[in-house]
Amino acid sequence: MNPRPESHWTEDDFIQSFYGLKAEDEHVRSCTDCASRVQKMAAVHAEVVRPPEVPPELLAEQRRRIHQRMELISRGWHPLRWAGALAAMAALVFVLLLHRSNPPGPLNDPFFTEVSAMDQNPAPRAIQPIEALVGDDNPE
Ligand SMILES: [Zn+2]
Repeated sequence: MNPRPESHWTEDDFIQSFYGLKAEDEHVRSCTDCASRVQKMAAVHAEVVRPPEVPPELLAEQRRRIHQRMELISRGWHPLRWAGALAAMAALVFVLLLHRSNPPGPLNDPFFTEVSAMDQNPAPRAIQPIEALVGDDNPE
């Protein structure tokens, strides 16, 4: 072998080869350094993507536990399961009954009177705050 240092593969060449974008050329076939690096990268890649070994006993135990949980869920009836829904329903009925028992009161609250007066004021709405600031507080 006669290695030619001036034509060794660059990092980009190795990366492109790793992702299948560059085919092995004559240099890689003849250069032991580059060929060993390509083989090392391929070996690391193969080790990384190798699926883990799972013993069949572990899978069987996992399957058994899943079936046990499914059986517990299907036959488990708990009296508190509907407690939240019943409490919400009772609260809703209580609020509706309370709302119906209160007759609508007269709208003589000062707040509503003021809002009604502002709504019926012929002045443009934009100057109403200014009028409120400079206006008389004691109309006579
Ligand atoms: Zn080389």
